[in-house]
Amino acid sequence: MKLDSHPSGRHFLQIPGPSPVPDRILRAISLPTIDHRGPEFAALGLKVIAGLQQVFKTRHPVAIYPASGTGAWEAALVNTLSPLDKVLMFETGHFASLWKKMAERLGLAPEFIGLPGAEGWRHGVDAAAIEQRLRDDASHAIKAVCVVHNETSTGVTSDIAAVRRAIDAARHPALLMVDTISGLASADYRHDEWGVDVSIAGSQKGLMLPPGISFNALSTKALAASRSAKLPRSFWAWDEIVEMNKSGYWPYTPSTNLLYGLAESLDMLLEEGLPNVLARHQRWGEGVRTAVRAWGLEIQCADPALYSPVLTGVKTPDGVDADRVRQLIHERFDLSLGTGLGKVKGRMFRIGHLGDSNDLTLLATLAGCEMGLKLSGVSLAGSGVHAAMDFFAAHPQRSALRAASMQRRSERLDTYGTEDGNVKVES
Ligand code: PLP
Repeated sequence: MKLDSHPSGRHFLQIPGPSPVPDRILRAISLPTIDHRGPEFAALGLKVIAGLQQVFKTRHPVAIYPASGTGAWEAALVNTLSPLDKVLMFETGHFASLWKKMAERLGLAPEFIGLPGAEGWRHGVDAAAIEQRLRDDASHAIKAVCVVHNETSTGVTSDIAAVRRAIDAARHPALLMVDTISGLASADYRHDEWGVDVSIAGSQKGLMLPPGISFNALSTKALAASRSAKLPRSFWAWDEIVEMNKSGYWPYTPSTNLLYGLAESLDMLLEEGLPNVLARHQRWGEGVRTAVRAWGLEIQCADPALYSPVLTGVKTPDGVDADRVRQLIHERFDLSLGTGLGKVKGRMFRIGHLGDSNDLTLLATLAGCEMGLKLSGVSLAGSGVHAAMDFFAAHPQRSALRAASMQRRSERLDTYGTEDGNVKVES
């Protein structure tokens, strides 16, 4: 694309990741690159690891890879498992299916359980089914249980604590590995409390960074497993990373500028307070779902207890190709929505409510959807935009939080100049 052909105004990037990146983070990323073996780097390395530990809610090491989330998926498997090991995986949607395919390609023996057909893609992980399967595995042939926390292809968030309880109830020693690539920093996540052995996350979702770095949060049990695991690994190997991270460095060149962005992102999240960040996403999710209900359309997640605070999957009526609706919305209104993936391709689209958003960007997004649906000939029961306006107006973001964030904004302006980057001139 030629840069000068870019339409005026901001593009609406409302896919469920990569999410819109706040200007504050973009500015941090633009700082000059420093020597990753030099004296200043260690402080950055130690800061981002400590901040990530707070976000994952863990006291254990967190490995950072210069790779997309797929790399961190591979790292979790190759560090802990050996050829032909059985792994129990649960089919919640497209990303669970891709992780299973990766396990096959790595020479593992994944067993995929879940509801048959596309119906399973409307529900979360069934902890009781996992417990039963583990009880049946008297010889403990299953070495790991792998589940997706927030299934980005459907907008269903699974109950990870229930999976932990299921493994414990079956008295099974399998490792618990959780993909929270799109959950971390938007949906509640507790690595240590939920007894997760490897948590996998990525930069481009709740952390509000561009794509390019990804994470493995570890447990003592996972580190012990890595010492006897036989799958080949070098780039992904935890041992050298964890060792060098103790002094804030990496065994190879880290993504310095993305780490600047990560440091800024962690400052933003922790300044706001994680409970407030999670509440903000919950509220956005409810606002968007209020619109979908007013349109008279169906939400892809069939279990209200598992609605994702990160994205909402919207089913289009039979005979309406969701991708054509998305394409029209993109062409007419410069708004990108998530496509339906795998089994639900053409049957639904996804609205991301994460990253640098607010009530008005979400209302504009819903307006783009509503216009696009109407232009595509979908007869809507009512106006989702009006319903969402009423919802947001009736449910203000907690005022103490809003006041605190406005206060912080003015403090920053006093310290650094104006928000557009110009030095403030005293009048
Ligand atoms: N798992 C989930 C839940 C995801 O949402 C994604 C990407 O969207 C991935 C895995 C793959 O990550 P990446 O595309 O960053 O390699």
